[in-house]
Amino acid sequence: MSFRVCINCYGIRVYPYMGFMVGQRYQCQDCQEQMVIPIEFDTQEDYEAFLKEMGVSPKDQEE
Ligand SMILES: [Zn+2]
Repeated sequence: MSFRVCINCYGIRVYPYMGFMVGQRYQCQDCQEQMVIPIEFDTQEDYEAFLKEMGVSPKDQEE
């Protein structure tokens, strides 16, 4: 199962956001960033490898 990741904070709580004038977008529930094309990963391993590359630890994302 693939999942979408925020391009701004790399959080995984990205959901489709339907705008009437702008067409389909996605919005991150963590930072409210709106994006047309979020990052997509097929596996949890791919996501964690990406976070490591970006210098972000999954556990450090929470406040
Ligand atoms: Zn975000």
